[in-house]
Amino acid sequence: LPVVVIAGRPNVGKSTLFNRLAGRRIALVADTPGVTRDRKQAEAKLRGRDVTLIDTAGLEEAAPETLAGRMRAGSASAVEQADLVLFVIDARAGVTPADAHFAQWLRRQGKPVLLVANKAEGRVANSAILDSYALGLGDPVGVSAEHGEGVADLMAEIADRLPPEEEAAEADDEEADRPLKMAIVGRPNAGKSTLLNRLLGEERMITGPEPGLTRDAVSVTLTDAQGRAVEIVDTAGLRRRARVEEALEKMSVGSAIHALKMAEVVVLTLDAVQGIQDQDLQIARLVEREGRACVVALNKWDAVADRNATRKAIMERLEDSLAQMKGIPVVTLSALTGAGVDRLLPAVRAAHEVWNTRVPTGELNRWFEHALEAHQPPLVNGRRLKLRYVTQAKARPPTFVVFGTRAEQTPEDYTRYLVNGLRGTFKLPGTPIRLQLRGTK
Ligand code: GDP
Repeated sequence: LPVVVIAGRPNVGKSTLFNRLAGRRIALVADTPGVTRDRKQAEAKLRGRDVTLIDTAGLEEAAPETLAGRMRAGSASAVEQADLVLFVIDARAGVTPADAHFAQWLRRQGKPVLLVANKAEGRVANSAILDSYALGLGDPVGVSAEHGEGVADLMAEIADRLPPEEEAAEADDEEADRPLKMAIVGRPNAGKSTLLNRLLGEERMITGPEPGLTRDAVSVTLTDAQGRAVEIVDTAGLRRRARVEEALEKMSVGSAIHALKMAEVVVLTLDAVQGIQDQDLQIARLVEREGRACVVALNKWDAVADRNATRKAIMERLEDSLAQMKGIPVVTLSALTGAGVDRLLPAVRAAHEVWNTRVPTGELNRWFEHALEAHQPPLVNGRRLKLRYVTQAKARPPTFVVFGTRAEQTPEDYTRYLVNGLRGTFKLPGTPIRLQLRGTK
């Protein structure tokens, strides 16, 4: 289960909030700081999501000197396990130095944090809530744990921030049965129909067009060498294009859009004899824009004389014009003779896995620290950008969010530096990577 940790100074109302969220009275609550002793844990359902709630109240007692130090020592192990930290402050007391310290430490832990301003009963906005923006942890959610005000909204906010891991795990199980959806796109005459027929001839077809009905088939499903299902979508579009050889320019791009919207992995089929053309790049750009995984099929390899030079020229052109396609997997093949075609589906499967990658937050932030050190964020209007942490918002394609002060002003080249770092470090070749930069006030 995803772990939600409630952290904050003593007496801000952590235990009360814990009880509210858990829906049972488990923790001992009192108005004296440090009265609760053991770490409390409960399972709770928040907006339909099961979570483990951990209350760090009482942990602050154990450890040393300053209050901030005690808070840290007490919370560190709980925060380590957290998928989400609720950082609770007291809206009546305002943001204290201990809160600010703790926030600073918390940001470095690289965990998603939701700032909760408790004891905010009846107040729409007060100065403490406004001050709390300065903690750099995003928008605070005002609640009154004691009176239950705002708790439903808080639950929704929590549910929104939980990692989709649970879903992903379930989806993984389903994934095994669910066919991978791929599309074959490319210019007219690149050999798409020939390739499709070759695939259908070589692999066992599960469902597909009856003879004579081929024209209207929208997709065919076959099994790959591992016995897993691959659905080739929009094959009707394929055939249509192959027959109609006029008005090609527009049409092939138009139908590529349709095909790749339905696909997870796109096989960009290139005619290696003709080399790469503008239209190929146009289609590749669409793949990138739609955030699909991509495999390049360098077709008609049988007819290519200088293979090394051809391959090099095509790949350079492709990678030069498409920053997002760095390291894109390439399969050289001949749809006509069948040579190399057996390598296509394994490459498609591998691209699909990369596209589905989830990087654990801890690893992500370790990389991030190094990346910032190696090449510090630039000055913007004379002030250095402060980028604080990064999390992966979703997969398919891998999508990351960097938070920081004025992060939204990060220049293009620094963003590209981060994207390239992500791609290299976490082995994400050939998939578009999305990186959003979000400012915290
Ligand atoms: P589509 O428009 O992309 O579907 O292309 P087609 O599959 O109709 O193929 C266009 C032409 O290229 C046909 O004449 C095919 O025989 C030829 N072709 C397809 N694949 C190969 C290949 O691997 N090698 C060679 N030499 N010719 C091919």
